[in-house]
Amino acid sequence: MPKKLLNKIIRQIDAEELAGFTLDRRSGELCYLDKEKAKTLKIPAPMCRDFFAAVEKFLAEKGKNTSQRFRLLTPKGRVSISLDSRTENGSQKISAEIERPEKLLGFKGLGFTPEQQKKIKNILARKKGLIVVGIPAGEGLSNTIYSLAAEINLETRSAYLIAAAKEYSLKGLNFISLDYPTEEDLRTKLDWLDKKDAEVIIVPEVYERQTALALAQMANRGHLVLAGCRSRDSFSVLNSFLKAGSAQEILANFSLIISGRRARRLCPHCVEKYQTSREEIGALAKRFAWKTREAEALAPKKLLRSVGCPSCHYHGHSGKIGLYETLILDQELKAEKDILAMRNLAFEKGYRPLVLGALEAAKNGLLSLREILSLKI
Ligand SMILES: [Zn+2]
Repeated sequence: MPKKLLNKIIRQIDAEELAGFTLDRRSGELCYLDKEKAKTLKIPAPMCRDFFAAVEKFLAEKGKNTSQRFRLLTPKGRVSISLDSRTENGSQKISAEIERPEKLLGFKGLGFTPEQQKKIKNILARKKGLIVVGIPAGEGLSNTIYSLAAEINLETRSAYLIAAAKEYSLKGLNFISLDYPTEEDLRTKLDWLDKKDAEVIIVPEVYERQTALALAQMANRGHLVLAGCRSRDSFSVLNSFLKAGSAQEILANFSLIISGRRARRLCPHCVEKYQTSREEIGALAKRFAWKTREAEALAPKKLLRSVGCPSCHYHGHSGKIGLYETLILDQELKAEKDILAMRNLAFEKGYRPLVLGALEAAKNGLLSLREILSLKI
């Protein structure tokens, strides 16, 4: 494991908020980016040699030849590191891209389209309703929930967050600590909030069906409820909520479902345009179970890819973007007889699954096709 050595290197440069580095075996030079200015450190030859040996061993242990992603605890907190090994101009290079816990992105920073922003803002301003965000682990659920919460006027509406821990501090948001709540614990708190006339209730992570029912009931009693769960997409959220109680009770004030993912943004400094190939269209069709003709129609004719440069540490990426789909539950949709009929009507009304948003982002030069193929959707 190169962790010890990596730690040593990271400690050397952690103070400068390192985002990544490249180490060249031949020259022993460690290049890193500090406030968008490239800097170079000379690494002693034995340490450099050890580092390469450790990285090779680490990659071999993981059964990977060239790249691996792992987590590491540094003096400044937990970081996620993508390690990449390659040969360039006859010399072996190792580069690492380092990601720290996300800053609160805020409503505008999440990456909703202007149209999505408008609809969501409208629903967040309502007096009551149930809004559920379904995002798998590691794809930005907390950031999305807290950023949406920040858009609600928390200082003028009595607002409460029920969670094991407060991940971000928001002005005007009261915190109720509840570690791994049982349904009974949660119901006790919710009843208390109901009596207290709480207007906004935020539960960042819903674990059980019964909790889903309790939250729908709070929305029916006139509260605005914002909840998060680990679901793949909007219809999975809808499906699991509908299993929690009678459709009438669950849907009465259910207003919005949001699902999302994080994707790596292409480095803007080293992109090149190219014609989408037949192989890529084939890969898209296979990945999303589309007919070839469908994939041809959906895929952008031209795409961008990054070739790697010092400013992205030859990873080709620079930061992340959010990709979201929104499902607005209006009266017409709620009147449908089952989830399949709701799904069909949603498509007719312009519901766009996340993958279409991702293709749009690729068309706009923000994402590579490779990134879309690797999205966990
Ligand atoms: Zn680049």
